[in-house]
Amino acid sequence: ADRHPDQEEYLQAVKEVYDDIIPIFNAHSDYKRNDVLRRLCVPERIIHFNVCWKNTSGDIEINQAWRVQHSGLIGPYKGGLRFHPTVNESILKFLAFEQSFKNALTGLPIGGAKGGADFNPKGRSDDDVMRFCQAFMTELQRHIGARTDVPAGDINVGAREIGYMYGQYRRLNNRFEGVLTGKGVDFGGSFVRTEATGFGLIYFLLAVLESHQTTLTNKRIAISGAGNVALHAALKAAQHEGCVISLSNSRGFYEYEDGLTAEMISWAMDNKQDSDNILKALSDKFGGKWHAGKAPWSLRCDVALPCATQNELNDEHAKVLIENGCQLVLEGANMPCTDGAKQAFLKAKIPHVPGKASNAGGVALSGMEMSQNAAFRPVSFEKLDAALKSVMEDIHQVCVDEGQDDGFVNYSRGANIAGFRRLADAMVAQGI
Ligand code: NDP
Repeated sequence: ADRHPDQEEYLQAVKEVYDDIIPIFNAHSDYKRNDVLRRLCVPERIIHFNVCWKNTSGDIEINQAWRVQHSGLIGPYKGGLRFHPTVNESILKFLAFEQSFKNALTGLPIGGAKGGADFNPKGRSDDDVMRFCQAFMTELQRHIGARTDVPAGDINVGAREIGYMYGQYRRLNNRFEGVLTGKGVDFGGSFVRTEATGFGLIYFLLAVLESHQTTLTNKRIAISGAGNVALHAALKAAQHEGCVISLSNSRGFYEYEDGLTAEMISWAMDNKQDSDNILKALSDKFGGKWHAGKAPWSLRCDVALPCATQNELNDEHAKVLIENGCQLVLEGANMPCTDGAKQAFLKAKIPHVPGKASNAGGVALSGMEMSQNAAFRPVSFEKLDAALKSVMEDIHQVCVDEGQDDGFVNYSRGANIAGFRRLADAMVAQGI
């Protein structure tokens, strides 16, 4: 902690894992001899660069950008790129650390990384976004490659941004290879990649519910966020007869008491790019309530799915959720629950599934996109969707096996221990 005094998020993520794995570390002499714990906490490499570019008004802009390559032990570095004004080294280090454990949980040969820039594409013209993406990739391209590091999307980096970055990579390298995932299906992208994180979250939820001998039918589900993860989770939940009562964004939340229909969610997906506030537009078109400046955690619900951003659900929110009868919390975003919230759920014996397990569907599908690119052979939507479901069920089972705690499943501990074992064993085998 002394060496990273200003890196709150990074320290929070490391501490969460550390507390769970210390008994495993202490019980294993090979782990101690190889100092695996300390070595796994720090990124292997951090690339920090300026993105200097000229916008369409002719002004020169300079943004800060990073790629944090945390662990390449079990495969090429892999993890998303985030464009958001709050992006800094601490946030990317926490995300890259989490990503390494998450990727280990998928069982696929993929290492962990994360990157991005403090650029905000919101409100920018399409041309400005393209210019920024090209300038960003002009530097990043020398550090990545299909066998080295394969970035994907994250907050504010979707199909459009991936397309522009991929175009620039190809232009500069004269190579058509799987260097980014989340590409358009017409140029090496995979079916189900767009849907994978949200769908995977619901597949995980179905597995949890099944282990409690129940189903999603009529369960009241509060979801935060209105981006890629939140909307696809909402859609899959609605398809399974779940009652999705909220979505949110940085300006407030949308409540729809009767449960959003698949038609409403699809409408939001189709129109969000052209709307200043798609949730306000939803309430104008379909009814329901818009609550400005608030989070949805005061709603009475059975299941809470935080799908927006880190530390969006704190101990106060957790207290209200518990009082209102919430029985399950699954993270769609990365580390959306503060440590205080996590402890409150644990104390109340409410299963809380960390993002590194429940949102691993996105990266799992990215791994499948890499295989399709390497083989030059696409796979059908149906096969990939079935494979995604199976990966999520496997991760659920691993968490149950490793997270047993006196009849209660501590999903966080289960995920941390299982991810740690895979990384630590690879580290021991590969030497110092
Ligand atoms: P998007 O950019 O598509 O959507 C992000 C959503 O979160 C938007 O609705 C945004 O609202 C909202 N949001 C962002 N910051 C805040 C904030 N401070 N307070 C409240 N709401 C906020 O991102 P994704 O859906 O892709 O990502 C969401 C989360 O899921 C992130 O934590 C990401 O790391 C994680 N994740 C994403 C994966 C993927 O495949 N996309 C894979 C695994 C994890 P607004 O538009 O107002 O900013």
